[in-house]
Amino acid sequence: MNAPAAAAHAALAPAGLQLAGDFPILSRTVHGKRLVYLDNGATTQKPDAVIEAERNFYRDSNANIHRGVHWLSQHATDLYEDARKTVQRFINADKADEIVFTRGTTEAINLVAQSWGRTTLQPGDEILVTTLEHHSNIVPWQLLCEQTGAVLKVAPISDAGELELEAFEALLGPRTRLVAITHVSNALGTVNPVARLVEQAHAAGAIVLVDGAQAVAHQAVDVQALGCDFYAFSGHKLYGPTGIGALYGRFELLQAMPPWHGGGDMIRTVSFERSTYADAPQRFEAGTPNIAGVVGLAAAIDYVSGVGMANIAAYEHALLGHATAALQTVPGLRLIGTAADKAAILSFVIDGIHPHDLGTILDAEGVAIRAGHHCAMPLMTRFGIPGTARASLGIYNDEADIAALVAAIDKAQYMFGTRQTR
Ligand code: PLP
Repeated sequence: MNAPAAAAHAALAPAGLQLAGDFPILSRTVHGKRLVYLDNGATTQKPDAVIEAERNFYRDSNANIHRGVHWLSQHATDLYEDARKTVQRFINADKADEIVFTRGTTEAINLVAQSWGRTTLQPGDEILVTTLEHHSNIVPWQLLCEQTGAVLKVAPISDAGELELEAFEALLGPRTRLVAITHVSNALGTVNPVARLVEQAHAAGAIVLVDGAQAVAHQAVDVQALGCDFYAFSGHKLYGPTGIGALYGRFELLQAMPPWHGGGDMIRTVSFERSTYADAPQRFEAGTPNIAGVVGLAAAIDYVSGVGMANIAAYEHALLGHATAALQTVPGLRLIGTAADKAAILSFVIDGIHPHDLGTILDAEGVAIRAGHHCAMPLMTRFGIPGTARASLGIYNDEADIAALVAAIDKAQYMFGTRQTR
């Protein structure tokens, strides 16, 4: 930990951000133990503000949007379109029309693959990803390669889990049409130097999609400063509802892309001979969307913005420093992913205990972590392991949670006989 981070840690970590009281689920017990929720990379818990926003939508404002002449429909439409502006401000997009609501990150990436990709790529064109990617940022491109004859290239990472920048640059060539990179690795926590990678990709004539699923909840995101062409994220990893997320796309790109789902709301005119399509973003939002989810997502953004993204980033960085130091005291524990720039994710393996067994024992102690390949099988292969145990931190976690994690690991080692003294 560097000096400013250590100072921030001293000031912030013991007390925490004092937000747990906003999250009703955190007061429940599991197996008779206090719930220690350290699986925020999979999904985050929801504050009352989000739960209430969804409930109030159904109680007071529910109607279908865009098509109604009545007051309630107009009201629901206003809430929906206001939420688009909330997302725009949150990631500093230039226009609200650059925000497409999707079911989440996965759908956003598939949208780009099937709309932009299918109509743009030619056999032999290249898509560049990295070893760090989640399956959601691999498989849609593999499907696209099968459909178009394009070729998937993969930039390697170091043993610390950092992208090898020279190798990345060397893989950019005249056939590279798209670079698809994660902002933050869900399995290791590595933060990629996205602005620099975007610059290099653009210089090579490629456009860039950033998978922001693990970034938006942990640091301020400014898509214009990053310079990316597409940015995808999910509401549920941002203290918002499941089933809702967003795709940011530069307006010229979105406007030039064909629809990928057909149906209501995405058309201008329909006849049996020919249909014409609405402008972006409506062109990409066929059918009745997840209106309550959109309202809940806006509430989540208001909530984290109220806490302050800079405060969240500083606090989580401090807590990560504390947790890293605490785990390093555990005998036989090896951290996987030790990048210099890391988000609050700790992946590890422990001698003599399979990650799934560890997860089960920790669960009995009320400590919820994730065990397995974290939807990043190629990354696990890179490290020669089937999976890891992963503790991923959120804004409500504190030093007591880290102490509970370490104590539960200690118990597991004692049970497995890999540690004799307690
Ligand atoms: N990308 C990353 C880095 C992720 O961590 C995840 C989810 O874990 C996804 C994409 C997929 O997100 P969703 O399942 O919300 O579409």
